[in-house]
Amino acid sequence: SPLIGILSLQGDVREHAHVLAVLGAQVTLVRRPTELDGLDGLVLPGGESTAITRLARTVGLLDPLRAAIADGLPVLGTCAGLILLADRLADGAAGQETIGGLDVTVRRNAFGAQIASFETDLEVPALGPPPVRAAFIRAPLIEQVGPGAWALAVLADGRVVAAEQGNLLGVAFHPESTGEIRFHRRFLDRVASR
Ligand code: GLN
Repeated sequence: SPLIGILSLQGDVREHAHVLAVLGAQVTLVRRPTELDGLDGLVLPGGESTAITRLARTVGLLDPLRAAIADGLPVLGTCAGLILLADRLADGAAGQETIGGLDVTVRRNAFGAQIASFETDLEVPALGPPPVRAAFIRAPLIEQVGPGAWALAVLADGRVVAAEQGNLLGVAFHPESTGEIRFHRRFLDRVASR
């Protein structure tokens, strides 16, 4: 079974570990650069992207993560994990560094205070029926999809909430917290075919 790392500096690590275990993956927690060795895939969890980035910088993980992505490591990022994968952050996050790799512009906390968290049913053609139950928790939005990436999931009003580029999959919501396994399965399919 594939060995999947979960970046475990902060965030909803346990929920991802559960879904990955259900799908038959072997899970290991990543807290320092040597723990990237031998991974078949990596999950960047939801949480607080500024905290995760600060801790990743402190332990020297930012450049090793960039190198692993450049080398083709399949990565699934959800919510804060999407923010970490984004090549660009919209203004308001000036100065916040990302790992990058996914050719998108992401706006943090894009849904405003009143509806900062909500759930909705989302048709995702690439995953087929039934619709995805999507939990948005102070979620980011993909404001622009560059030529390298494509929009995997859009809200009814057309706003983009998931994007893919090669072995990178970024999702603005939390499939791991609503019993949704198809994004993780898609990620594990990438891992298997690498
Ligand atoms: N608002 C968080 C951030 O900006 C993301 C929220 C989440 O991961 N649930 O990092």
